[in-house]
Amino acid sequence: MHGTIRISLAVLLALAGTPAAAQESVYDLLLTGGHVIDPANDIDAVRDVAVRDGKIVQVAAAIPTGSAKRIVDVKGLYVVPGLVDIHAHHYGYAGSLFPDETAFPAGTTTVVDAGGPGWRNFEDYQEKILRRARARVFTFINSVGLGMGGEEDDIEDMNPRATADKILAFPDLIVGVKNAHFGGSGWTSVDRAIEAGRLSNTPVILDNTILSWTGRDTRTKVLEKMRPGDIHTHFYNDRHVEILDRRTNRVQPYMHAARKRGVLFDLGHGGGSFLWPVADRAMAQDFPPDTISTDLHAGSILSTESDMPNSISKMLLLGMPLRDVVYRSTVTPARTIKRFPQVGTLGEGRDADIAVLRLDEGVFSFHDAWGKKRLGTQRLLNVLTVRAGEIVYDRDAIAFPDWDAPGSNGRTRE
Ligand SMILES: [Zn+2]
Repeated sequence: MHGTIRISLAVLLALAGTPAAAQESVYDLLLTGGHVIDPANDIDAVRDVAVRDGKIVQVAAAIPTGSAKRIVDVKGLYVVPGLVDIHAHHYGYAGSLFPDETAFPAGTTTVVDAGGPGWRNFEDYQEKILRRARARVFTFINSVGLGMGGEEDDIEDMNPRATADKILAFPDLIVGVKNAHFGGSGWTSVDRAIEAGRLSNTPVILDNTILSWTGRDTRTKVLEKMRPGDIHTHFYNDRHVEILDRRTNRVQPYMHAARKRGVLFDLGHGGGSFLWPVADRAMAQDFPPDTISTDLHAGSILSTESDMPNSISKMLLLGMPLRDVVYRSTVTPARTIKRFPQVGTLGEGRDADIAVLRLDEGVFSFHDAWGKKRLGTQRLLNVLTVRAGEIVYDRDAIAFPDWDAPGSNGRTRE
């Protein structure tokens, strides 16, 4: 009886409430007065952003605030799509970090685990990480059956068919294949990863040493082995990709040729893969990374602080314009993992994944993986992160009411 009354009441309320709510366009959240940079929609201007039911409903100048449940003044700040980091580590080795606590403070709402699990332990990873994370987490599955928890030199455990079958079984979660940390010589590990990518029609992301004893070289790798859409990570390293001619410091002709044929290059900053001499000279010759990513793990977050805002700030220092760093932290990574435009834009109807950034002016020092320091005049900082319409990080309490404001009831949050 009690249940019946409650249901009837709910139905009545729904019937009474629906037309009025639709007319009033009630927003759950309204970010007002921020400078929106949404490259996918060619917006680079002061705009308000309205959110309802976890989705972006409107991006426009001066949206009436009257009916919004929560209004956050973000004047003087940049409002961009939630950052998309295609190289992070959440599973499979000692340095793995749980996604939410590192991603959200950085303004990252979508992360890709780069090779944590393989086809043998994907379900364990799914249980321990994917089911618990609030961040959107995709996966480059390792070409080794046991992933980073196994032996990444183990060619015998690189089974392209089994890897591809796992991708085809979880097409919403797995976006491609990772082959990395291979200590042996020859091309077998690369070939098997690319075969898994071919069988599953997904991109392969490589980290692959090219030092003389390996019998591998960058030219063969980027011109003959990798397919258009495949990704080379650790771009400004000099161990995995030889971007520059070491005598002339010119970008190698084969790097231009590789980019022309559609091979992609990912920053993959990490603890060892951002070197000023490489990055500076490549940028001076207009050879930027296609995607800015962190290679975040316990070591890199402490040593090089390679989160997204820090990695982005270094690209600003090297002359990449703000709009371009946003593009290469949202649109291009989403495209690289074939999730654009579902991810990487503030387009109306998309999931409300948003980062609010502050661009500080001053003198700031940034260091590379060799421990060399360089001064810059701008530093980007994430101050507010929205994931699927929910505020999940608020550095400066900008979304909070004053404790003694009228209407504050003094009760603590649960
Ligand atoms: Zn990595």
